[in-house]
Formats: sequence, C-alpha cells, structure tokens
Amino acid sequence: MTDRRLTVTDDIHRYLVEHSVREPEVLTRLRAATAALPQAQMQIGPEQGQLMALLAKLVGATRCIEVGVFTGYSSLAVALALPDDGRILACDVSEEWTAIARRFWREAGVEHKIELKLQPATRTLEQLLAAGEAGRYDFAFVDADKPAYDTYYELLLQLLRPGGLIAIDNTLWSGAVANPQERDPNTVALRALNDKLHRDERIDLSLLPVGDGLTLARKR
Ligand code: CA
Repeated sequence: MTDRRLTVTDDIHRYLVEHSVREPEVLTRLRAATAALPQAQMQIGPEQGQLMALLAKLVGATRCIEVGVFTGYSSLAVALALPDDGRILACDVSEEWTAIARRFWREAGVEHKIELKLQPATRTLEQLLAAGEAGRYDFAFVDADKPAYDTYYELLLQLLRPGGLIAIDNTLWSGAVANPQERDPNTVALRALNDKLHRDERIDLSLLPVGDGLTLARKR
C-alpha cells in the first residue's frame, strides 16, 4: 500500500476548477459581491459549493439545516440542487450578511426553499427537537463559531434520520489542528471535535482535504 498524496499547487487547483466547477451564474455573482467584504475569506469556494450540492443529491435530501449562513453561498448552491419541495432551515445571527444572502436567494428563484432563522443556532436546533423534529432531516452543513461546533453536532445528529449526512467546515483549520503548539480556542475546539468524531460509533466518517478541511459524518 502506498501513501499517495497530492500537494495541490495553484496550477493544479486551477486545473481542478476548470475541469470540475460548473458554477451557475447567480453563484458567480454572489461570490463577486461577497469578495468585496472584509470577511470574504469566510466564503466557501465554488468547488466546495458544488460538492455540497452533489452530496445533498446523493443523500436524496429534501430537508436540510445550515448552521452559519454568512452571505448564503452554500445555502444557495444546495437550494439549487434540491427538488422544488426541498427546504433549508438556515441559521445565523447576522442581519447584515444574510441580507446579501436573501437578495441572491430571491434572484435565483429559490427564496421559497430557504427559511432564515436569525437567532443563536443552538436555540433554533433545540426548538426543533422540542417540536418533535428529531430524525426528520436529511442533510446538515456546519460553518459557524468553532467553539460551539460540538454542541451543533450533537443537536444535528439527533435531528438527522439514519443515513443523513452532516458536513462540517474548517476541520483542518489551515493545518493548525495538526500542530500541538497551536492552543487558541478555535484550534482546541476543532481538535477535540476531530478526536471525538474519530471515535464516534454513531457515524461513518471521512475528513476530506477540501477547502479548509471538510468532515463528512453519516448517521448510522
Ligand atoms: Ca468556513
């Protein structure tokens, strides 16, 4: 067995994008609008958006939850991939950023598929569980405050049906998780989550070197 790994240089990444990404025009415009913001690096890349859309189709998702909307790129990418009766419950706390998201959801004609909840996601997820929604979701994406990831994960795992998928963003954290010298709260939280998921028998697992690290956890 060889340990075959590829270092993705800029040239390889460009090739990958040119030979994989089929970005709808509305997503290209949303990416451009977001690139003008100081927090632009929080946006996922088009290849990751496309992967999320593919994953949603693979699990046959109709009911989705997103924790951390920012300007709505991932929710829009997934909404475009959902059937017309598909729904995303989108959780965020920023009126300012989600105003951009709303504008592009509307422009893309998928506004009816996305319900935005502007309050702490933990509260929203707890309310869903209290309303008897456990086991009723197919697909979840987590891209929000890192110290709360474990809380989101535990709540989402209850909300997912068996066979449902949680995608968790930034789990390699620019490589900091692999460096024991890094002890900032975000790195510590992500490292603890990665350790826990590795041992978690409730899920099937893959940590992909996509974007800043993307963990896929399928509920057993
Ligand atoms: Ca992210």
